[in-house]
Amino acid sequence: MGKIKCVVEECKYNENQLCQAGEIEVRSSGSMSVMTSDGTACDTFTPRE
Ligand code: SF4
Repeated sequence: MGKIKCVVEECKYNENQLCQAGEIEVRSSGSMSVMTSDGTACDTFTPRE
């Protein structure tokens, strides 16, 4: 997968603000129509243990 910058350092896939997951899934966040990036969310997020 190409380089994905991500600043969610609470995610176990995050290393130095780069995503190390083999693949990710992004979905809309909430029930409203998505108009900006704020309306999207990474569904692959997994909290660090
Ligand atoms: S899985 Fe999603 S939240 Fe976690 S590091 Fe990758 S892009 Fe960020």
